[in-house]
Amino acid sequence: MLQKSDSRNVNIKIYVDGQILNRDEAQVSVFDSVVQGGDAVWEGLRVYRGGIFCLDRHLNRLMDSAKAMAFVDVPNKSDIKKALTETLQANGMTDDVHIRLTLTRGRKTTSGMDPRLNIFGPTLIILPEYKPPVYDNENGIIVITSTIRRNSPNNLDSKIHHNNLINNILAKIQSNVAGADAALMLDNYGFASELNGTNIFMVKDGIIYTPHADACLHGITRGLIIQLARENNFTCIEKNISLTEMYSADEVFCTGTMGELTPIVSIDGRKIENKSISEILPKLIYAFEESIHKYTEKI
Ligand code: PMP
Repeated sequence: MLQKSDSRNVNIKIYVDGQILNRDEAQVSVFDSVVQGGDAVWEGLRVYRGGIFCLDRHLNRLMDSAKAMAFVDVPNKSDIKKALTETLQANGMTDDVHIRLTLTRGRKTTSGMDPRLNIFGPTLIILPEYKPPVYDNENGIIVITSTIRRNSPNNLDSKIHHNNLINNILAKIQSNVAGADAALMLDNYGFASELNGTNIFMVKDGIIYTPHADACLHGITRGLIIQLARENNFTCIEKNISLTEMYSADEVFCTGTMGELTPIVSIDGRKIENKSISEILPKLIYAFEESIHKYTEKI
């Protein structure tokens, strides 16, 4: 499934380093750390009816990522909120919008890896686009398992939401070649970790399972679904999940800001068969939709 370009985005305005610019003028320097080494952290945010969903949770993760990367002179949360508000207002955007919020280590004095070359402070980029949830949440998606492993804390801690997405992109290429919608990535031990851009859950005999957030991103939607499941008296367990367990689950679905909750209908050609006639996913989708108002911060 390829996201279509949306004509509403032809004249959008983008925030770069304190300026709100027309789409064609918005640029970063060739000396910026994101160009030099993918040296940046980011968040995907969704705007619902005049507010940003789970904004504090996203900004807290951005701050934690920037701290782990030892960024200096990081703008504080209220400065970022102000910039988000100004950017959405400049675009007249209130709903059906996805924001790619990026914080790079900033420009360097010369090309190179050393963060001591970054004397100008970080670059903040706010790219808002009209974008409905990206997957077919009615009919679900088809997934294949990638041979590319998701990072473990041994090489690159997935608790940092960074811009080094090469392994996820390679996995997505494998899924494209296979004609699937997304790639399931395993951890170093061969357990399911997450899809190339979303977290994964399965339901078996009335219990919800999701992989430990050791190799996968600790997704904001993932965290909220675990919370909502428990608030609705479902048992939700984080554990190592093998492919065999995934194949024979009653329901499998993925979660993320881009696509919300999406059923997975087959993995590696194994159809997901709802043998227990489980209705947990529709109930979680309902709980998620009900939670949107509660967790949306007006801007
Ligand atoms: N996994 C990966 C690799 C992602 O890039 C994302 C989106 N940022 C997610 C999962 C979903 O995370 P969230 O629920 O915070 O959008």
